Amino acid sequence: MGFVMNEHRLFLNGEWSDSVTGETFKDFNPATLEPIGEFQKASSDDVNRAVDSAAEAFLSWSRTPAPQRGKILFRTARMLEERKEELARLMTRENGKVLSEARGDVQEAIDMAYYAAGEGRRLLGETAPSELPDKFCLTVRRPIGVVGLITPFNFPLAIPAWKIMPALISGNTIVFKPSSDTPLLAEELIKILIQAGVPPGVINLVTGSGSEAGAALVRDRRVRAISFTGSLDTGKWILTEAGKDMKRVSLELGGKNPIIVMDDANLDLAVDGVLWGAFGTSGQRCTAASRVIVDEKVLPQFQSRLVQRAKGLRVGNGLNEGIDLGPLINGSQLARVERYVQIGQDEGAKLLLGGSRIKSLPGYFFEPTIFADVGADMRIAQEEIFGPVLSLISTTGIDEAIDIANSVPYGLSSSIYTENIKNAFRAIEEIDAGITYINAPTIGAEIHLPFGGTKASGNGAREAGTTAIDEFTNLKTVYFDYSNRLQKAQIDTEVVR
Ligand code: NAD
Repeated sequence: MGFVMNEHRLFLNGEWSDSVTGETFKDFNPATLEPIGEFQKASSDDVNRAVDSAAEAFLSWSRTPAPQRGKILFRTARMLEERKEELARLMTRENGKVLSEARGDVQEAIDMAYYAAGEGRRLLGETAPSELPDKFCLTVRRPIGVVGLITPFNFPLAIPAWKIMPALISGNTIVFKPSSDTPLLAEELIKILIQAGVPPGVINLVTGSGSEAGAALVRDRRVRAISFTGSLDTGKWILTEAGKDMKRVSLELGGKNPIIVMDDANLDLAVDGVLWGAFGTSGQRCTAASRVIVDEKVLPQFQSRLVQRAKGLRVGNGLNEGIDLGPLINGSQLARVERYVQIGQDEGAKLLLGGSRIKSLPGYFFEPTIFADVGADMRIAQEEIFGPVLSLISTTGIDEAIDIANSVPYGLSSSIYTENIKNAFRAIEEIDAGITYINAPTIGAEIHLPFGGTKASGNGAREAGTTAIDEFTNLKTVYFDYSNRLQKAQIDTEVVR
């Protein structure tokens, strides 16, 4: 792969530069453990430089007409499209996800770039009648300012694009801190944005650790909003810290997503959905299904069909044909999954399939794993594992199924398999989650619809759709009085806000 440089730099004020300290870190292919490149470990001084440059660029970028900004995003979308296959292959090398899923990840970035580009000709506000004559009332959208974007490893292009495209079209300037496990794809995205015409300073890239570079970004007073996707603990810390100087914070956090299988479900469809929902991306999706709540009447048949099918899943290097599951992202994630399998066994759950690291392969590979006889309150049914580990929970009827679905701290995605329309509507109305699928697995978000969770899955923020524009703009209300006299509210003169 001749286009992969071995040394990589920060991108500050339109230039590639070394970190102030000269410290670097290495990025590895999780399937082969081969090094991919050496990246700059940004210090707080580097983050400071990045914010300086974003603050300066804000003056002109925020005044650039939104349709002009949109043209740059259209070019970005086209360039991503032209390079889709190359980027997908690079992603499989860096992140491990199988090639078909990597293509989907790039496609989401393409779709989001086109979608946000179109917003450049909308960015709609409202008009409303006034209580008074000769007075006009409306809202306009204003950019927030410098925004800090912090992203996880599992969607190396899609999640950054979900944040960068709406932030840019809205007129904000950016300091972007990607996961240390996927800095290469972040760099490729920056290169494309620059080539497409994003001016110097408008987007800045700081690679490095969360505890130093990420934390410095969260603490910088000039950064007016933080958009974060990642784990619950990091999200809690960010919310507290950013709250100290009243930053806007958008959090997309973990999940413990249920699939309910009712006794009237199409079981073949449900087995297909559970396999893809639980084991796609080796379970490293925030929307991965990790609990299947199955009606006891169909549990034996469902269980045996599922295990039979899961035995046929092929684990290996995602660049190879016919592979279903790639590796986990790193050694600590592998150790975490191993720990949870042990916890499940200690809690008395029955290991039906898998449960071990695949030692014959060089990378961080783990077997597709299924537990049966799982109690809804066991730790493996309550805590996010973020690996290919699925818990089967037996239930009776829709009431109990919904209670169990809601019994976890998280509320991101959810699903029900049923042929009964009443059960489907009960799920829509009663599952406490940001997303509910009917007769489809917990994954498959489309970029033009809002995305986000309830409870510990976030702070109510919604990415994607037009709600993404809400996350990255301030609404200003304008009262335009052209009467040429002092007008007081006539409806109730006491109300003067
Ligand atoms: P993580 O929280 O470890 O890291 C995410 C990012 O935060 C990384 O860039 C990291 O360097 C940075 N970070 C870490 N500590 C920081 C700090 N103190 N200050 C600022 N930044 C800091 O998450 P991860 O392991 O990369 O990703 C997996 C997690 O992400 C899972 O919990 C998963 O559910 C969640 N996730 C959620 C969504 C969603 O949309 N809800 C999508 C994908 C992943």
